[in-house]
Amino acid sequence: MFPWRAAVPGVASTTMRRRWVTSLRVTPKCGERGKGSLACAAASPALQRQRSSVAPFSRLSADERAFVMTLTTSEMMNSTSDLAPTEAEIALFLDFDGTLVEIAPSPADVDVDRRLPAALDTLRHSLGGALALVSGRPISFLDSALDPYRFDTAALHGAEIRLGGDVHSRAAVPAEMRSALRDLVRFANSHVGIIVEDKHISVAMHWRLAPQLADEALDLLRAVASRMGPGVRLQEGKSVAEIVPASASKGAAISQLMQLPPYAGRRPVFIGDDVTDEHGFAAVNALGGLSIRIGDGETRAAGRIASPTTLRSILLNAAERGRLTASDFSEG
Ligand SMILES: [Mg+2]
Repeated sequence: MFPWRAAVPGVASTTMRRRWVTSLRVTPKCGERGKGSLACAAASPALQRQRSSVAPFSRLSADERAFVMTLTTSEMMNSTSDLAPTEAEIALFLDFDGTLVEIAPSPADVDVDRRLPAALDTLRHSLGGALALVSGRPISFLDSALDPYRFDTAALHGAEIRLGGDVHSRAAVPAEMRSALRDLVRFANSHVGIIVEDKHISVAMHWRLAPQLADEALDLLRAVASRMGPGVRLQEGKSVAEIVPASASKGAAISQLMQLPPYAGRRPVFIGDDVTDEHGFAAVNALGGLSIRIGDGETRAAGRIASPTTLRSILLNAAERGRLTASDFSEG
């Protein structure tokens, strides 16, 4: 079944068409209206320039965009037989810290394997565009860490989602966030080793450099979150806790993306390492996907990979082959 037909029955809005082009696969059939023409539109110079089978709508020429926008809903509905992914094709969702990179003493110090950004880009293309980062980090940080590539991203634990280069959704900044930030900064200023990370929509406090202050830091965070009311929740992690919008969770973000092209219709695989990833594991388990936890610890994940190093090795090898399937992760 074609992905977005399953997700959004009978709907083909302008927005859907624009997103849909990002998940088209190139076929050699050109010249006839319907499947052939649509495939032909997808086999555009923009696609050929980037040697890929998928391209954002924005990269098509003006003529190609105009052509795609003239297609009727039924033409799009009927143009799917050899464009739909096979059952085995996956959508890959990746946490960042502790998953793709080792956790650093402070959040600014992570060390990214120089081969990783290009490998992720290769895998994204091999997955028809269905690769997204699902992290507590802001989009700007992930862009900078994986420069020059820009990936679909569920940032800030899902509070902000970028899809196909556009902001898809963004939670409102919770009331009193500035006041909460001031309280946390005051605590950090009087306690060596405490780091406060202002992410605008959320705020995190890290005590990796001062583990003896964990209880005190958590007590403060709980009190501040409680004062802020039901609009926020406290997301705990490894030597960190974060006040986030109550609506934000990695599981909700993955579920949201799985309803949209190019993710819809694929089998979700989510890989993470921390308590904050448990929502994501539960979501992919419910969707019949594969959940994988990096390292030890109690988890709802169905599988495990020993370390970020092992995961990177799996991803780098798959990028070299130009193909990634769920079974590649069972080798970890
Ligand atoms: Mg992590």
